[in-house]
Amino acid sequence: MTGAVLIIDGAAIATVDGAGTEHSSGHLVVRDGRIATVGQGPAPAVEGARRVDGSGCLLTPGLVNTHHHLYQWATRAYAQQATLFEWLTELYPVWARVTEPVVGAAAAAGLAWLARSGCTTTTDHHYLFPRAAGDLLASTVEAARRIGLRFDPTRGSMDLGRSNGGLPPDEVVESLDAILDATGAAVERFHDPGPGSMMRVAVAPCSPFSVSTELLTESAALARSLGVRLHTHLAETLDEETYCRERYGCTPVEYLDKLGWLGADVWLAHAVHLAPAEIVRLGATGTGVAHCPSSNARLGSGIAPSRALLDAGAPVGLGVDGAASQEAGRLVEEMRQALYAARLRGGPAGLTARQSLAMATIGGARCLGRDDEIGSLEPGKLADLALWRLDGLGHAGIADPVAALVFGAAPPLELLTVAGSVVVERDELRTADEEALARDLGRASREVAHE
Ligand SMILES: [Zn+2]
Repeated sequence: MTGAVLIIDGAAIATVDGAGTEHSSGHLVVRDGRIATVGQGPAPAVEGARRVDGSGCLLTPGLVNTHHHLYQWATRAYAQQATLFEWLTELYPVWARVTEPVVGAAAAAGLAWLARSGCTTTTDHHYLFPRAAGDLLASTVEAARRIGLRFDPTRGSMDLGRSNGGLPPDEVVESLDAILDATGAAVERFHDPGPGSMMRVAVAPCSPFSVSTELLTESAALARSLGVRLHTHLAETLDEETYCRERYGCTPVEYLDKLGWLGADVWLAHAVHLAPAEIVRLGATGTGVAHCPSSNARLGSGIAPSRALLDAGAPVGLGVDGAASQEAGRLVEEMRQALYAARLRGGPAGLTARQSLAMATIGGARCLGRDDEIGSLEPGKLADLALWRLDGLGHAGIADPVAALVFGAAPPLELLTVAGSVVVERDELRTADEEALARDLGRASREVAHE
């Protein structure tokens, strides 16, 4: 919306800036897709501006999703009583049947659903590239452009098939050379390192039990030579820890540390099973963690030490994770789930509502290396905004708007903007037709369910 001015007036505002500044009734002015001013009281008059009445609402930064597998939106509710390894073993053959249209439909629907739950920036960890399936990564990129979210896809990978001691069947893994070539090509094709970028690509070998040591090492070297970030799954289950001890003689964190895989350019999904010294190590190296409490609960994997990681100084963001292990896929609800998980582990002081909101916004932005431009409401940052309606039946009367958002049910989304452009308004997607997305998703899910 170059040149256009958007004003949100009369809303409670949680800026999530470094000082935790909040306004009981404030304004925010967007100019050229960035935040021009934010503060208490009414907005200044600007001729020709679009003015949104924010009374009864809470304005927060748009939420940042730090871990997802969008293609899984088409493979939900499989392996309903399974551990991670059992679940993967049941799903790999289903996933081997994904095609470009299936991934495109799943990604568009999954992104639309994320937008409807307050998300303005998401990553995607796509690690499955069956032969002759088409240009799967491009289909997720196209879906993100269509829905209008800021998108940091990763070029994921697996090269350790069952015949070499890995968990996935051989037919869903690629060769090391093919992976490195395709990863470099993906960065060249889609990565925009510039200011206000709508798309940045990261490098993401899947997990210690599905990729070789060589792939981890080479991926890190490639990412660092290209100046892009690194992502993988780590320390999700005790089965993974057993696997690493047997195969590599150390824990998953020790394994990555030995390979030079801890650092401020890395964020890890899950990090559930960590020794106290490993938490300190993640904090000291600035390694980010994508905390996925609903997925961890769904698979019975455990409760991540999110509060200890925060205390150690590690960036911690929230992730819905792939929809095959977290069928709800609503990012706003992960704030409450994160609060519950931290309190189940550490008692009622385990996490506050504001810490949970910070994880979902600035914490996620730090994981993606984007905290200079998103994750808080400050002048100069991108106008990625979520305006939550809190005066309805579900929230009316709760004096603390941040508590209403985090402790309460997911509120209606009055407005969601990415760089000031409207994506959701009054709980409806404005960039695509939801019914058409749902029909395409149903078709894609049926297609992949049957050989
Ligand atoms: Zn995952």
